[in-house]
Amino acid sequence: MSAKKAYDDVLKLMREHHDWFDRSIPLIASENIPSPAVREAIMSDFGNRYAEGWPGERVYAGCIYIDQVELICNDLARKVFRAEFADCRATSGVVANLAIYAAFTNPGDWMMAASIPAGGHISHGKKEHAGTAGLVHGLNIEHYPFSKEEMTIDVDATKKKIDEMVREGKPPTMGMFGGSLFLFPHPVKELAEYMHQHGMYVNYDGAHVAGLIAGGEFQDPLREGVDSMTMSSHKTLWGPQGGIIVSLEKHAEAIKKAVFPGNTSSHHLHHVAGKAIALAESLEFGKQYAKQVIKNAKALAEALAGYGFRVLGEKRGYTASHQIAVDVMKFGDGGTIEKQLEKAGIILNRQLLPGDIKAGRHYMHPSGVRIGVPETTRLGMKESEMKEIANFIKRVVIDKQDPAIVAKDVAEFRKQFQKVQYAFDNAVKAYEYISLTGR
Ligand SMILES: *Cc1c(COP(=O)(O)O)cnc(C)c1O
Repeated sequence: MSAKKAYDDVLKLMREHHDWFDRSIPLIASENIPSPAVREAIMSDFGNRYAEGWPGERVYAGCIYIDQVELICNDLARKVFRAEFADCRATSGVVANLAIYAAFTNPGDWMMAASIPAGGHISHGKKEHAGTAGLVHGLNIEHYPFSKEEMTIDVDATKKKIDEMVREGKPPTMGMFGGSLFLFPHPVKELAEYMHQHGMYVNYDGAHVAGLIAGGEFQDPLREGVDSMTMSSHKTLWGPQGGIIVSLEKHAEAIKKAVFPGNTSSHHLHHVAGKAIALAESLEFGKQYAKQVIKNAKALAEALAGYGFRVLGEKRGYTASHQIAVDVMKFGDGGTIEKQLEKAGIILNRQLLPGDIKAGRHYMHPSGVRIGVPETTRLGMKESEMKEIANFIKRVVIDKQDPAIVAKDVAEFRKQFQKVQYAFDNAVKAYEYISLTGR
């Protein structure tokens, strides 16, 4: 392929991606659509600069405006999460977690975290699974006992496990809460004190639920006893891709060093500007948005259950977050169904569910799918649209209709939802492709 053809292809493929998303229903639970202001930040010259260090103590010149933006960003993060300290430099949620591992544990230490089928994230994972905690920082991992019925961590069994680990001479030094399959709050209030009594540092990974916590609608880890909270800035929090850490003031110096120079050099300043904008939007519109997200997730769960789908967490009303989990084994496996739905313009992901590993299923063909509503909610959809989405899913998965036919109806449905809501500015359409090449 010639250089020019490759160049042209990339520009064309990006535009096609925008057109495709413009006529699809985006239901990946870890994604969102940022506002035009966040997209403007990402395109700015901030992305071409270096600002190693802390505002006012930089390693390079040229940071007059960058410093002001980063100070605004940290200030907003402290406000939004009611935190004593905030560091917005981590370039992703994984990097934020790595900084916490580096600051508060040593290689060879033991950490308690959720297993992947119980909702844990690869960045909390063991070395043999190439999980970040094990592979990069040399942590040993013990999984929380998990209740499938309640779809959350089992408090009493966890306390017993901590005692057992102490007796076995491998006392855990870190308790990690939070996850990626995350329907109900984790029992932080019930466990943080016990962990502290055992000398553990407690972190809450709010990557998925940061926007709900910002809106005051999920749980409030910093008031429930954690030392720090790490997060991604682009899931329910609707910013550009990146990470944020908030914590108690007493941990500030250790975290700052672990982020830089420990885990970053450039810290993606265009994304810092985008995070500041997203946090300002969250301060203004976050509560209203988080409420609607949760209402939408429940409405979608109820509609799917009504069609005969096995939605997890039924006993507790399916979900208290932005996502739902559906066991689809009656109709095929998660991998196959993900592909069928993608052809219909319904974009979601397959999901390992509790019990899958024991049953010999793996991540290519797990028993479930995970469905999230952060993005459709940001596009202005409400409960009645969730019913329509459930019907599109039913037509593909249960009625086995031709996905190409469903895709046409999906595209028609999407025409009513062209703009980002819960934003100060939305003149530009949500998925409008912005060209700087004049093509
Ligand atoms: C998505 C996710 C992360 C990773 O965040 P990135 O920003 O993609 O690096 C970390 N922890 C949890 C629980 C997640 O779901």
